Amino acid sequence: MTIIIKMREGLDEKKIKVAAKFIREGKLVAFPTETVYGLGANALDSKAVKRIFEAKGRPADNPLIVHIADFNQVHELAREVPPEVELLAKHFWPGPLTVVLPKRENVPRITTGGLDTVAIRMPAHEIALGLIRASKRPIAAPSANISGKPSPTLAEHVIDDFYGRIECIIDGGETKIGVESTVLDLTTKPPTLLRPGGLPMEEIERVIGKIKIHPAVKGKEVNLAKAPGMKYKHYAPNAQVIVIEGVREKVKGKIMELLMEYKKQGIKVGVMATGDFYEADAYVNLGNSEEEIARNLFKALRELDKSGVDIILAEGIEEKGLGLAVMNRLRKAAGYKIIKV
Ligand code: AMP
Ligand code: MG
Repeated sequence: MTIIIKMREGLDEKKIKVAAKFIREGKLVAFPTETVYGLGANALDSKAVKRIFEAKGRPADNPLIVHIADFNQVHELAREVPPEVELLAKHFWPGPLTVVLPKRENVPRITTGGLDTVAIRMPAHEIALGLIRASKRPIAAPSANISGKPSPTLAEHVIDDFYGRIECIIDGGETKIGVESTVLDLTTKPPTLLRPGGLPMEEIERVIGKIKIHPAVKGKEVNLAKAPGMKYKHYAPNAQVIVIEGVREKVKGKIMELLMEYKKQGIKVGVMATGDFYEADAYVNLGNSEEEIARNLFKALRELDKSGVDIILAEGIEEKGLGLAVMNRLRKAAGYKIIKV
């Protein structure tokens, strides 16, 4: 029932036509982008979009991002396009930046989670762009994972979650960035960062000046559906994640202490580290740079889960550059179970 199309060498014009036909027929196609894999359907076909929500088990008020391949498509989806959008597009599209704008009538409410606004981005991935072009449709695509699970950065992750439940999966290898796009609301003045992601906010500010950060980005869950990724426990494996934040040396000490305690109690523990080695039941080193850590984060959460540990201890990192997106995902994966040292 699920066709897997291998495209490890990049866009294959012939094979992409098969996937594009599925999109036109209202079916579901998972495809790689530079951020994470997306679960795509024709954004303007409410029946097709409904299937995305069903397949993921996604709450109906959590809006989808509409993916485009040509800047003119912004005008087909958005009612008003402030001048900043063109400026941002010039600098960052194709790329991991999503803009939120007032939607046009033709965009179904189901696509926007009932909101009056639509989220739009142009992905920097030739397979994603090829699929949008070949299907001649804007493609609504949230991350291709069961709702609440870590996002997929490999086709295997998508296969684990959706094999037999969607029509097509395009395997384009590992995604480059590893965290989802940065979501920026341009209906407010100044614009508001709704979700930190693959494009650091510092880079956005260099182009359009100061932006606001939505309080939910760093802090607790809020009771507001503006960027509903904020509302639910998210990106979470089955094991309980605990984030240890603070000065590096103290973080290391605390993790060693916790490891000893859990060992005494017979609890299996995995550690997600950013350089240091730990003696634990399972151990993943995410890397040293923010880029490496972002790229490896979701894969590590899935791997540690498969290893069968009960608890995952994760080292916190500084919230600069991609670090803001990494910490946002980690804290959510932990359901905000954080130890500060
Ligand atoms: P996902 O691709 O699964 O991470 O989900 C897309 C995310 O984009 C949502 O969880 C929201 O955070 C954001 N988003 C999409 N559309 C809108 C919108 N109209 N307004 C605000 N945020 C949005
Ligand atoms: Mg998602």
